Amino acid sequence: MPNPYRLVIPRSVYEGMIRHARQDFPAESCGLLGGRFDGNQANAEQYYPLVNVADDATRRYQADIRSLLAVHRALREVGQREVAVVHSHPHSPAVPSRMDLTQNAYGDAVVHLIISLRSSRPEVQVWWLLPDQFVPADWRVVDDPTK
Ligand SMILES: [Zn+2]
Repeated sequence: MPNPYRLVIPRSVYEGMIRHARQDFPAESCGLLGGRFDGNQANAEQYYPLVNVADDATRRYQADIRSLLAVHRALREVGQREVAVVHSHPHSPAVPSRMDLTQNAYGDAVVHLIISLRSSRPEVQVWWLLPDQFVPADWRVVDDPTK
């Protein structure tokens, strides 16, 4: 990875992502985490849900292009960058699928966060995706910053 960073997610943002994954179940949910880089750490600040328009949305995801463009515009307006690509696996583990590797439009510039809902307790893992392998990323959930 050219810039391997650590992803830090405030608890409220983390919970919003899980909520969206549960709402979209049994389809895969997808979204982006926006935030800011501080050295080799990426601080997530907001979760931006996207609309999964894949025909077989229970097995893969494809973000609706209009919602994707709207999120990119919103990121620019608040000065955030994309710090993670998020999607859910309704029935399989939080491990990248073959398709996640082959259809990864982001290369190794950004981490992928996968939420598995196969058991009652969501399982979350974060990965760097390479064309033929995946590497665990450094990440953690923190208490929300006090304002
Ligand atoms: Zn996947």
